Amino acid sequence: IESKEEYRFNTTVNSAMSTITVAFPSDEAESISLHQLKKLLAKTTYNGFPIIQSTAHPRVIGYITRADIEYNLENAVSGVNETSKCNFNSEKSQNEENCIEFGAVVNRHPFTVNVTTTLEYVLDVFVKLGPRFILVEQEGLLVGIITRKDILRYEYTVHAMHSDNDVESSNSEFDER
Ligand code: ATP
Repeated sequence: IESKEEYRFNTTVNSAMSTITVAFPSDEAESISLHQLKKLLAKTTYNGFPIIQSTAHPRVIGYITRADIEYNLENAVSGVNETSKCNFNSEKSQNEENCIEFGAVVNRHPFTVNVTTTLEYVLDVFVKLGPRFILVEQEGLLVGIITRKDILRYEYTVHAMHSDNDVESSNSEFDER
């Protein structure tokens, strides 16, 4: 997939993105325990997780990779246990003792686009700037996430649907990663 002229999806990012199912609130009132974190890691295969302000107001705060969470857990300070709270804020928790601090490894500037952004534009960002994922916002709040593979899957599905009357549709070369 090289030029925008040759390749028009004719749609916006929300047709190809995933709706967020797991995001970690940074609001201390909602902070999850180590036990809950481990359960979420085991239950999913996502490469990482968005950090949001709160469930009621899911403004994007950042993103943390699975690898960084696992690294932090392996090196967790003594004194933490399954009920210890996970803190994703840049400042250390004031109220909680035995918090596990993840703030240092949270990416505070993940790529984000609006749901109305065209899929061509999003692909352009992947190709030219090379992020692993892009978060998708609607009215300033997190709604989705998209990866290169999502665009591939979308392309594949649409081509499969139109393959009967579109024989020229299989000429795209998608350089993954
Ligand atoms: P792979 O892990 O095979 O390299 P990938 O590059 O698409 O796949 P992942 O982060 O593992 O990266 O995402 C896998 C799928 O899950 C994608 O469809 C992505 O949109 C979706 N996804 C990622 N994170 C979340 C999340 N927190 N909530 C919902 N869906 C997500």
